[in-house]
Amino acid sequence: MTTITTYAPGRAELLGNHTDYNEGFVLALAVDRGTTITGQARNDRTVRLRSRELKLTQEIALNQLAAEGVAPWSRYILGVVDQFQRNGLPVGGFEAEISGNLPLGAGLSSSASLENATVLFLVRAFGAKLGPLQMARLAQKAEHDFVGVRCGLLDQITSLMSTAEHATYIDCRTFEVKHLPLDGRISVIIANSGVKHALVGGEYNERRADCESAAQALGVKALRDASTQLLHSHRDNLADRIYHRALHIVGENERVIEGSEALRRGDITRFGQLMFDSHESSRHNFENSCPELDQLVATARETPGVFGARLSGGGFGGATINLVEKGSEKEVVRALTAALPDVNCLVTAASDGALARAGLSLSRRS
Ligand code: ADP
Ligand code: MG
Repeated sequence: MTTITTYAPGRAELLGNHTDYNEGFVLALAVDRGTTITGQARNDRTVRLRSRELKLTQEIALNQLAAEGVAPWSRYILGVVDQFQRNGLPVGGFEAEISGNLPLGAGLSSSASLENATVLFLVRAFGAKLGPLQMARLAQKAEHDFVGVRCGLLDQITSLMSTAEHATYIDCRTFEVKHLPLDGRISVIIANSGVKHALVGGEYNERRADCESAAQALGVKALRDASTQLLHSHRDNLADRIYHRALHIVGENERVIEGSEALRRGDITRFGQLMFDSHESSRHNFENSCPELDQLVATARETPGVFGARLSGGGFGGATINLVEKGSEKEVVRALTAALPDVNCLVTAASDGALARAGLSLSRRS
């Protein structure tokens, strides 16, 4: 049988924090690391998987597929297989080895990269005809149903549909995707603080609930439909906390729109300023930063070569993203590492997503 190899990268959020579930806007990018799947179709209905990183294997018959019956790491792959079966898409037995160079659980979405690489593997092995958005939705549904994580669609879309040297703009209501040029002089540094907040789940749900309350009080479907003006006009009817939560989301949406304009005209200095503003709003309005992330951003602000820095992802720990001038990476990494004992820096660049890497069309068919 022919050997098939597929790859999908991880991703980082560049601007637009907690905007996805508010049906707003986000700018993200694919990183230059990801997950590779190599293997071949079998003539029977058995799936055999091996993870090179985890040194684990999993074997299961297609007609016995259930999340409870398989090891947690394999659910990201088998969840996709399950989605293909449920949707009546062509799929059969196969064997595959999974290998990757993304840090797992570090906020670069190794999970979406693994799911996307699996979608592409099954498409190549068994011939399903799918558009990019359909692929992303299958990957997302696999994580919902088999892993039990109710992730948005952002990670899968960014990992699939990004292009090198561009930021990926996503409208989280319509899932329209645009590619905006990132200055060729730029490198991206992801600085993982090493801080894991014990209450992430609870805090995340509280923020979601606050945003829903704010939208309801403002009389809009989602905070995506609110402007700063509308918010100000309701200032007196809103509890202080709810007002500040909404101010963050509305501000983030406006910053993504302005940031997209800045990228279009090549104004990376303005874009970087918007990143710093975003962090400040996280710290003050949304209260999803922590002293370690603040320290990393404060250090970045004082370090030559840095255009902008902010917390990236859910917050309460995790990583910052730094846009820096090419050539200054070493100095910036040195400064960030000196600022915080447990920090781990990864130098990367806006890279091709899985479809562009495979030479497949990015045009939206679904
Ligand atoms: P993140 O998406 O931020 O990296 P998640 O917890 O969502 O973190 O996903 C990480 C999980 O994905 C790992 O714990 C593992 O189960 C699975 N995974 C990712 N890459 C691999 C790999 N190369 N081999 C095996 N499992 C992997
Ligand atoms: Mg994940």
